[in-house]
Amino acid sequence: MPDADKPREKCGVVGIISENGSHAPSYLYFALRALQHRGQESAGIAVQGKNIKCIKHLGLVSDVFNTKNLNKLKGKAGIGHVYYSQKLSKPENAQPHVIPTAIGEIALAHNGVIVNTEELKRELRIRGHVFLKGAEEEAMAYILADEIQRSDDILKAIKVLMRKLNGSYCLTLLHNGRVFGIRDPYGIRPLCLGEMKDGFVVASESVALDVLNAKVLRDVECGEVVELTREGVVSRQMVKKSHKAHCFFEYVYFARADSVLEGRNIYEVRQRAGARCAEEHPVDADLVIPIPDSGRSHAYGFSHKMNVPVIEGLMKNRYIGRTFIMPDQKSRDISIREKVNPIPDVIRGKRVVLVDDSIVRGTTITRIVQAVRDAGAKEIHVRIGSPPLIAPCYLGIDMENREQFLANEKTIEEIRAETTADSVGYISVDGVVDAIGIPKEDLCLGCVTDKYPLDIPCEMHRFQKTLPDYEE
Ligand code: 5GP
Ligand code: MG
Repeated sequence: MPDADKPREKCGVVGIISENGSHAPSYLYFALRALQHRGQESAGIAVQGKNIKCIKHLGLVSDVFNTKNLNKLKGKAGIGHVYYSQKLSKPENAQPHVIPTAIGEIALAHNGVIVNTEELKRELRIRGHVFLKGAEEEAMAYILADEIQRSDDILKAIKVLMRKLNGSYCLTLLHNGRVFGIRDPYGIRPLCLGEMKDGFVVASESVALDVLNAKVLRDVECGEVVELTREGVVSRQMVKKSHKAHCFFEYVYFARADSVLEGRNIYEVRQRAGARCAEEHPVDADLVIPIPDSGRSHAYGFSHKMNVPVIEGLMKNRYIGRTFIMPDQKSRDISIREKVNPIPDVIRGKRVVLVDDSIVRGTTITRIVQAVRDAGAKEIHVRIGSPPLIAPCYLGIDMENREQFLANEKTIEEIRAETTADSVGYISVDGVVDAIGIPKEDLCLGCVTDKYPLDIPCEMHRFQKTLPDYEE
């Protein structure tokens, strides 16, 4: 069984090498700010000086770092991490994770979920390792350290590590001034490579490259290890490519709309998905209203295809920031009303289509349908840019329990009744695949098809855990 308090990870990673020693820490800082949407729990930067110096803490990037502590970080090579978990975050879980080895320290930053962690930990405990956090990156660091002890060779150690890991991982690694970017053989989570004027960068999404004015070179390949050096990028196909299994939910929700993953602009993908949803579920309506912010790109595509105007009928209070986890339904209701508020004057008497990227447990959409009804809408039609979510994600997304999905074992009519909308339409699996423009067999669609690209040990247990409360 997985640890009850094991945080599920959907994080952001970055690694940088720059010719100018005073620039690397601030580059890392800005890259992490661009990746903030991938994790708001904690942030950390590790930079190579004589030793590795690491600053990390709970909080947003701008809470954790300031001029004073950034100035303490000096070096030309470094990595950074933003961390996403729910409820259970502890300061010690912040990354990068730093440990000593026989030939110098290692700092490691991880985005993904290793599904055979328990097995790896068992093996490592037998070899005498003690787990202080019990986290995946701790196990990875021990595997690397043991192998370095044997071979004095970081590359050999990385190869051994990749052979042992099963699951999704994008890693950035810092060791003796060397910076590596590592992507799992399925390419489940994203990782891309860029060139700056004075160095190179590897990061979860291209928005981190944009902010540094870096040129996007390409995505890191499945099973590839890239080493950033001052002269250029050294690429090694470290383990054999498996079949690809890029997470489709990155395209639907996670990634920022201005990112480009595998050559696809996320905003355009979402627009195409909205248009396809309109083709699949047309409806006579007066207005299309996006559910801010995540449903916006889909709503534009839907509106354009239906030839129905899109308006901002729901206003989001952008200063709320993170809602703390509400203990009961009543305070959850207030929290959603506080965040998204309808504008009755533009809604009253209208037939409206509400467009969102996804429905997880259904809290957001149900509350918004009620609020829009209260604001005087005549009809409310819900259109969703991803197929019904029905199965847990074991590879990096916070969806763990079938029972908590609104769509779990329900017909569309039952879902409609629950949301109290006049109609509900989800894009089909083939529709979203076409919108992304990547062949179906190269995507992970586990949460909408219940078929996973690799064996998931804990899937056999069908473990029960409550879903976390979501942000938007
Ligand atoms: P629900 O209220 O149905 O549980 O959640 C649906 C809303 O949460 C959608 O508006 C979607 O944009 C957002 N969402 C979907 N997946 C995630 C996630 O993993 N994290 C966060 N913070 N929000 C999510
Ligand atoms: Mg949302």
